[in-house]
Amino acid sequence: MWIVYALIVHVLLLGSIFVIYFRSPVIEGLHPQPALPAEPPADRLVLIVTDGLRADSFFTDNCNHVPHLREIFLRDGLVGISRTHVPTESRPGHIALIAGLYEDPSAVTRGWKENPIEFDTLFNRSGHTYAWGAHDVLHIFEKLTDGGRPMYFDAYHDLDFSGQQKTYKQDEWVFQRVRQLLKRKQEELRSAKKVVFFLHLLGLDTAGHVHKPGTPLFLENLQFTENEIAQIYEKFEEIFPDKRTAYLLTSDHGMTDSGSHGAGAAHETETPFMLWGAGVARSASSASSFVANDEGQKLPLHELEQAQLAPLMSALIGLPPPMNNFGMLPSGYMSVGVEYEAMAAQSNALQLLAQYIRLHEQHQRGLFTPYMKSFKKLTTLGIFDFSTKTATFAESSDMMQLALEGIDYYHGYYRNVMLFCTTATFLGWILYLYRLLIQGTSIRKQPSIGSGDASALTLSIAIGGVFLIGFIVAQFVPFAVGFYMLLPLPVWLLALRQTGSNSNIEVCDYRYPSVARSGQVSKLQFVLLIGCAELLVYTFFERRLISLCFVAFAFGSNWSNFKRNSSQFYIWILLVLVLAGFPLLPPSVGYQNRYLLLGGIVLVLLRAVLSNGSRSYSWHTKWCNPLILINTAACVHLHSQQVAIPMPLKVTSWLYLVYAIVSIQLNKEKALELRLAHILYNLSALYTLLCTSYESLFVQLLAMELSIALAAQRQGMDSLQQQYQQRSLQSSLRLAFTVLLYTFFSLFGSGNIASISSFDPNIARCFLSQFAPFMIMSLVLVKLILPVVLNLSIVYTYCDYARKQERQIFICLLIICDIMGLNFLFLVRNTGSWLEIGSSISHFVIMEATTLVLLLLSYLAKHLLRLNSCDRAVTKHH
Ligand SMILES: [Zn+2]
Ligand SMILES: [Zn+2]
Repeated sequence: MWIVYALIVHVLLLGSIFVIYFRSPVIEGLHPQPALPAEPPADRLVLIVTDGLRADSFFTDNCNHVPHLREIFLRDGLVGISRTHVPTESRPGHIALIAGLYEDPSAVTRGWKENPIEFDTLFNRSGHTYAWGAHDVLHIFEKLTDGGRPMYFDAYHDLDFSGQQKTYKQDEWVFQRVRQLLKRKQEELRSAKKVVFFLHLLGLDTAGHVHKPGTPLFLENLQFTENEIAQIYEKFEEIFPDKRTAYLLTSDHGMTDSGSHGAGAAHETETPFMLWGAGVARSASSASSFVANDEGQKLPLHELEQAQLAPLMSALIGLPPPMNNFGMLPSGYMSVGVEYEAMAAQSNALQLLAQYIRLHEQHQRGLFTPYMKSFKKLTTLGIFDFSTKTATFAESSDMMQLALEGIDYYHGYYRNVMLFCTTATFLGWILYLYRLLIQGTSIRKQPSIGSGDASALTLSIAIGGVFLIGFIVAQFVPFAVGFYMLLPLPVWLLALRQTGSNSNIEVCDYRYPSVARSGQVSKLQFVLLIGCAELLVYTFFERRLISLCFVAFAFGSNWSNFKRNSSQFYIWILLVLVLAGFPLLPPSVGYQNRYLLLGGIVLVLLRAVLSNGSRSYSWHTKWCNPLILINTAACVHLHSQQVAIPMPLKVTSWLYLVYAIVSIQLNKEKALELRLAHILYNLSALYTLLCTSYESLFVQLLAMELSIALAAQRQGMDSLQQQYQQRSLQSSLRLAFTVLLYTFFSLFGSGNIASISSFDPNIARCFLSQFAPFMIMSLVLVKLILPVVLNLSIVYTYCDYARKQERQIFICLLIICDIMGLNFLFLVRNTGSWLEIGSSISHFVIMEATTLVLLLLSYLAKHLLRLNSCDRAVTKHH
């Protein structure tokens, strides 16, 4: 039953972070502001997004990589850096740019394909929108079409990243389509006003992922694209000679040196922007400058937030900002009269105020509102005054600041209360687990006795619950918030229900001396448990710390188990030291080295041949596994030569993915160690198929180290000790920590766990050549869980104790994970840079997910080892 509770509680705790920090910023029930009443400086806007082009690629080398664009910005317009938020993915980047809205990061996982809530965009406000580009991006905006506004979308679907085709072909497609449309519709377009042309150019993102920024093939794409942009600019000027076209070139996010994006490094969040044409100023206030050519000409480098571009684009063609916009119009970017700029700013301020007013109204509905805190800086009178007068730019600017502050205030109104309640839930749950653990050490299980104290407590909790529900209903607290406010109550009820049985342990202690010992130790153990958890928390912030943690734990717990001077002993020491070196290497994400990978393949084969389990392999395993390793080597070789991988090889990889699991299922072998040999062989081969460099070597060496250490531990124990050990909490704790440490080590050691989102599509090269994010993401997940399953299988095989005392070990594991999770809950930041916010949240998510995943994977490991029958016997025993 506790497993069911554990699953439920952890899923709910995982959800809490989204309710606390990631509430959707989209406010519903808003109305658009009227269009600006004066003549705008431009009639049409050309928005060009070079997907994944980072600022560095644009400005490096005195802008020599973008000579044609340089010609334009030396003559005309503004250039600078636009900062994006985390996650640096295409969807949030484009939404920030086109809707002025920083979508909550959860939407990335929830709805790449669907929009959970409708929001307003620049395109929706425009007279006409014409868009070309990749389907994945256009599709986000296409669905928002609301009646009457003609929008024309033209997208391509399949992207090829195998290197068969030049990446700039995608951009070429867009430019061709734009030319065709301009030719076909020029008459009609010349008279149209408030028109947006959106060119989404995916070539550079693909080139960055496949070839990495700065490489010759990437630069080839950049050269092509920047030249074509200059050409298409001339084409627009030719078709529309009225000089009433404004242009914006920018990108949705940047890219790291290793060709990934998603996290918050400077290379990922800093994108270039270039604004020129009708209505654009020659320079605005800026703090820094950059060198624009080899003659050393200096230009001011303008800086703004990505969402600020949305109201700016709107103002240039006389539109009100999108309803859900959070961006503030930057000052001095438009070469228009003071009145027009002030008018645009006031429209922007009113649009932000509309969002504030909506939130304020929702808050006012509550019965208890008069007795609660409210946002004092904005008054109804002040807002009324502002909306009826003609405000200056500075006044509007101040009002925008206040409105944003107010929106933030009401948006996070229940944040502290929720943090408090979630902490209470955590503590209640840890208490429950702790009691469960203590109870597990006593031999006789006492029925729980409902003492007077316990029922009084239960009663007071129930009364508290009723009052809380009353408050939540009367105050119109959002459902999700109310739910998490109530959650601590049932969890504490669960924890306190065991009061009775706990008090009986002392009675048992006199009769069973060994139990007494373990019972007393448990206080110290609990302190130790917290210590271990805290140590692991810090490894999240410093990857290299896990080496230290690993060496200390390995030597501390296993040194005495080995016979001195045996060959095993020296091999083990060597393995520990070599393994400790891996986290010091750069993360393997985006790093390719076929020689190291080849080393991994050789190691798989060597281990398979030398292992004493080799006789248990069936004839097909003996053939299939070497074959797939050769297949891997062939794919890697072809890929590195930029040759497309032929279909049969890809099909073989997919077939093996199925075979690796099925053949273990079909194996009739009963002896655990022989089964393990088969599992190790299959899963290592499968893992190698998904590697790009040293990961395969690392994971296999780790498995070897774990096997040797656990085997020595088993030998080092005589039967008497073993008996004592059966009841000792210490062993449970040690094994729980082993499982957790090896899980994190295998994840940290082979990559950067904190940015799973910044994946490397190259790991899927043996499987597919299309850029299919979901497919690749699932393969990334397979790659992440394989080492964990391997390690769990080894633990189950070599530790009788792990098989018998599984429950205790998992309770220890849960306690460690929950203590860590509680740490991360408080380390979540809601101020500071988005990098800090993003990664602190992902730590919490990883922690909560780990507990759930480990529970599930332990079942998979047991299933592969055919331990399930044995497990049932153990459960009956309890
Ligand atoms: Zn992108
Ligand atoms: Zn990308």
